[in-house]
Amino acid sequence: MKSEAIPAILKKYKLKVTPVRIAVLRVLIDSDTAMSHADIAQLLSDQHFDKVTLYRTLSHFTEKGIVHKVATEDRSWLYAVLAENNADIATDKTHAHFICDDCDKIFCFPIDEGSGQSVKSMKKGFLVKELEIRLHGVCPSCQ
Ligand SMILES: [Zn+2]
Ligand SMILES: [Zn+2]
Repeated sequence: MKSEAIPAILKKYKLKVTPVRIAVLRVLIDSDTAMSHADIAQLLSDQHFDKVTLYRTLSHFTEKGIVHKVATEDRSWLYAVLAENNADIATDKTHAHFICDDCDKIFCFPIDEGSGQSVKSMKKGFLVKELEIRLHGVCPSCQ
């Protein structure tokens, strides 16, 4: 993705363009896996952003829908964008998460619309807010 594209995405989501936002969004777009706050902080360590600013940036991105959160198997949060669709980063709510059982990396997988609607019927009294499909297996670099 070209450098000019990142500020354009921020503007589209009505976010002020700041160096930390550009840096975080670039890291997430360039990564094909979901990343933790610590992963992102480490990749940006030479730029000396403070940790709180990074947290705030990630939560802003999540609120705006540029980024979505994925829970790891041990219940911590990772952050991801769907980078294959650069023209519109908005994350499709019905996509699958592939979890590599060897390296624990999590990848976002686009899926056909409607394929998540295979739950036969909703149980009475349950309010579904989001559907998450999780796939387990071995990623290409662990094979
Ligand atoms: Zn792996
Ligand atoms: Zn995802």
